[in-house]
Amino acid sequence: MKDLFIDGQWVASAGARPGRAVLNPYDASELATVTEADPADVDAAVTAARKAFDAGPWRATSARERGELLRKLSDLLVRDREELARTESLDTGKTLAEGRTDVDDIVAVFRYYANLADTDAGRVVDTGNPHAISRVVHEPVGVCALIAPWNYPLLQMSWKLAPALAAGNTAVVKPSEVTPLATLHLVKLLEEAGLPAGVVNLVLGGGPTVGSAMVSHPGVDLVSFTGGLATGQKIMAAAAVGVKRVALELGGNNPNVVFADADFDTAVDYALSAAFFHSGQVCSAGSRLIVQDTIHDAFVAELARRADAIRLGSGLDEATECGPLVSAEHRDKVERYIAQALAEGARLVAGGHRPHEPELQEGYFLRPTVFADCDASLTIVREEVFGPVLTVERFKDEDEAVRLANDTEYGLAGAVWTGDVSLAQRVAAAMRHGTVWINDYHPYLPQAEWGGFGKSGIGRELGPSGLDEYRETKHIYHNIRPEPMRWFAGPAAG
Ligand code: NAD
Repeated sequence: MKDLFIDGQWVASAGARPGRAVLNPYDASELATVTEADPADVDAAVTAARKAFDAGPWRATSARERGELLRKLSDLLVRDREELARTESLDTGKTLAEGRTDVDDIVAVFRYYANLADTDAGRVVDTGNPHAISRVVHEPVGVCALIAPWNYPLLQMSWKLAPALAAGNTAVVKPSEVTPLATLHLVKLLEEAGLPAGVVNLVLGGGPTVGSAMVSHPGVDLVSFTGGLATGQKIMAAAAVGVKRVALELGGNNPNVVFADADFDTAVDYALSAAFFHSGQVCSAGSRLIVQDTIHDAFVAELARRADAIRLGSGLDEATECGPLVSAEHRDKVERYIAQALAEGARLVAGGHRPHEPELQEGYFLRPTVFADCDASLTIVREEVFGPVLTVERFKDEDEAVRLANDTEYGLAGAVWTGDVSLAQRVAAAMRHGTVWINDYHPYLPQAEWGGFGKSGIGRELGPSGLDEYRETKHIYHNIRPEPMRWFAGPAAG
């Protein structure tokens, strides 16, 4: 097995760890066995990235040349769209339609940063001195450690890699050990696009071994991580030792607020997709539905009726609406949350169990689940479940809706549904979340920043700020007619 890409070569691990089996969450069959790296491989990968940054041809490239390479990569992604979508579907359990959407989004992100990097010439500052020129310019940070989760393997890695490369950095990338396959393909496309050796290096393996070796390696200048809060806290602490730049995209516990005057059918429809898209394994999933009391009962009844009708199956089957959860361990975790919610008194109105169809028994399936009569005393309301579980809380008025929406340590995303434009704007302004949708759920744009308030993270991806994460800012002051300053008089001439 030679699945590590280091200094432009596909290599085996220097260590002796056995390969890691990658499982299909649909039926627990083995999709592949991939190389498991160890810290020595991380050291080789960082050394290659360091050399490529400090001495390779990459640093001499212009933003335009890097943009051309990213555009070439985008064309290759378009060429391989179906294969990438299929790989992502097999690896994560998501539907093919979601996999295709992910590839389309990635292409848009690479193209956006290919263009954006080339538009920045820094800025000239007025020195007040006709003989001095002052410029503020941007430069790459250096070697970036990019660590991604399993729910959107290709997409989360691309949100990092596109701006990192556009800005002129080099990188060591690590996908989740649970879902490495599409990232292997992405790196092959970077190679095909003609990326110089050492600019992007791929390591595979577990977080506590390979991931932590990346974060603590002295040759790394910046760590960009997407994943869970507890891991993010560890990474921030480890990165602090080397005063590394840190960008964190962590969890969410996102409110979806529905006022009584919202269009009922549309709001129910979006409440379902907000919560159950990709089986709820979405950092911005609308997992906390907050409904005005006058429509609450009718809303919950319709929601339960429709949740019970969601069609589970293989992501590769075009008729499937929800795939399995990513792993047996993850389903166990979600089932523990469901059991705890029942023990704490939440009222189950849909799902709450594994499906009964014989063909779904091998995979990690769970029926879309809805709990009504919820409040913040329930663990399932306070914590990020990251599965197909929706809790419903009720509110009386605007103040209570805002209070409930903000009653979370996270602050990633949320939505408000109402026909009243001024109410919508007031609530959106009051919500302490990095993204707020009004009468919609889930859309994001390469041009618009993504990230969290509170414990949902630090920094932003996408948009101009997503590029800034990967750039140093430097002030160059040029005195073009230097003369002695004579601040200090000095000894009299002898
Ligand atoms: P995770 O934190 O378990 O793992 C994420 C990545 O970090 C994996 O590659 C893992 O191997 C690595 N890792 C684990 N321990 C590490 C360590 N000590 N040092 C370095 N790396 C380590 O997260 P997950 O279970 O893969 O993903 C789910 C989480 O990701 C959820 O909390 C979800 O909300 C979050 N997420 C957030 C966003 C966002 O945009 N904010 C997007 C997607 C997912």
